Amino acid sequence: MKYISTRGNTESVTFKESVMMGLARDGGLLVPCEIPNVTDKLNDWMHLSFQELALEVISIFADDISKPDLKIIIDESYANFRHDEIAPHVKIGDFYILELFHGPTLAFKDIALQFLGNVFSYILQLRGGSLNILGATSGDTGSAAIYGVKGKPNINIFIMHPTGRVSPIQEMQMTSVIDKNVFNIGINGTFDDCQYIMKSTFSDLDFKDKYNLGAINSVNWSRVLAQIVYYFYSGLKIMKNYGSSSVRFSVPTGNFGNIFAGYLSAKMGLPIKELILATNENDILSRFFNHGDYTLREVLPTVSPSMDIQLASNFERYLFLKFNQHESFRSFIEHGTCKVEKERGYDIDPIFKACKGTTEETLNIIRKYYKNYNYVLDPHSALGVLAAEKIKSNIPTICLATAHPAKFSNTINDAIGMNATHEVLEALKGMPTQSDNVENDVNSVKQYLVDKLNNS
Ligand SMILES: *Cc1c(COP(=O)(O)O)cnc(C)c1O
Repeated sequence: MKYISTRGNTESVTFKESVMMGLARDGGLLVPCEIPNVTDKLNDWMHLSFQELALEVISIFADDISKPDLKIIIDESYANFRHDEIAPHVKIGDFYILELFHGPTLAFKDIALQFLGNVFSYILQLRGGSLNILGATSGDTGSAAIYGVKGKPNINIFIMHPTGRVSPIQEMQMTSVIDKNVFNIGINGTFDDCQYIMKSTFSDLDFKDKYNLGAINSVNWSRVLAQIVYYFYSGLKIMKNYGSSSVRFSVPTGNFGNIFAGYLSAKMGLPIKELILATNENDILSRFFNHGDYTLREVLPTVSPSMDIQLASNFERYLFLKFNQHESFRSFIEHGTCKVEKERGYDIDPIFKACKGTTEETLNIIRKYYKNYNYVLDPHSALGVLAAEKIKSNIPTICLATAHPAKFSNTINDAIGMNATHEVLEALKGMPTQSDNVENDVNSVKQYLVDKLNNS
C-alpha cells in the first residue's frame, strides 16, 4: 500500500515511511492511495479476538511489515490494557456503549498511541537512528503519547501543553512521568498556540530533518489506521450477537480522527448505516454536515475539552477523498473554509448525521444514565449518547465511550454530586513531577529542543 499527500506535491511513500514522516512534506496529510474492500472477509473476521482482527486489518495497510513482526507489535501494544477484550461493550438502555478507555491513560487515544509507540521502536530497530517526537496537547493526547514511548531507547518525546489550561488530572498524568526521554513543556498560551508552534517547527524542513522530528498527533496516518480496528470489532460482534445486518455508530468528535476511521470502515465494506457526529458548542463539523458550511469561529471552552477544536485536522483527509476534484477542496486548502452546495451537484454523504449538544444537555445526560442505569458517562461520551438519542433509529447503535469519567471528575461532580475515581489516577497523587516552562514562541521551543538534545 502506498500513501499520497492530500496536497499532491510529494512522492508516494510506504507505510513505514508514512509513520516516520507524520505530516506530509508539502504540508498535507497522508492518505492510502486506495481503500480496499473487505466484504468477503467479514464472515471470518466475526470470530476473531481484538488482537487477531487488528492483525488482519492493519496488515492490509502496513504491508511493508511482515505479519509475524506485526503480530508481535500488536500483542505488545494491547498487553497493558485492563480489560481482556481491549474494547468491550456494555448494553445500557437502548444503546451499546463501546468502552475504549481501558488503556494506560484511560482515554481512547491509547488504542492508537500504544501501537504507534511500538511501531516507532520497531522501525528504529530496523534502520537505526533516533526520533524526537514533538507534539501538542489539549489534554488526552499528551499523556497517551507519553505512555506510548516512555523509556523506549532512541526516542525522545517533547509535549507542549498550555499552562493552566489542561485539567489538573490531565497535567499530572503527563508531568508525573519522569523517564529521561520525556520532556513536558508548559506554554504560556492556548492549545492553538502550541499547535501553531508544532506546525511551524515541522514546516522548517531543515530543522525537521536535522533533528529527526516525528509526529504523534492524528496527522500521523497510523493513528487513524489503529482506530479502524474497533469499528470492525464491535460492529461485527454486535451484528453477530444480535442478529442484525447493519449497525450505526455515534462518535464524540473533535479533530475528526475517530469518526474518519469509522468512515473508512464503511468504505471498506463494514455495513454501517449511519455515523452520528456529535459535537459540543464548537460545532463547525455539525454545521458542515447539516448545512454544507465550514466556517471557522472562535474556540469556546466547554466541559468536553478534548472536543474544543475548530480546525479539525483530519477533515482535510475526508474532503480529499470526497471532493478532491471540486473547488470546495481548493477553497479549504487556500482559506481554511468551504461551502458545499447541494444544487451544484456535490452532496454530502448521507451516512453522516450530525448533532450538537450544550453543556446543560451534557450534564443532564450524565445524570439520566446514572439515575436510570447506574452508569457514569464521561462528558465526551455523554455527547455521543445525547446525539444518538436525538437521531432516532431501530438499527443497533454503538456509542463510543472515549474516556473514563474519572478523568473529568469535576464535571461528573457537577452532574451527579459524586466524584468519579479510578485507582490509576489516585496513584498519581503526591508523585514527583517534571515540566519546564518555555516562552510562547517558535524559536524558544526550537532552542529548548536543541539544548535538551545536546545534553542527553
Ligand atoms: C481526542 C478525544 C475526542 C475527539 O476525538 P477526535 O479523533 O479528535 O475527533 C473525544 N473524546 C475524548 C475523550 C478525546 O480524548
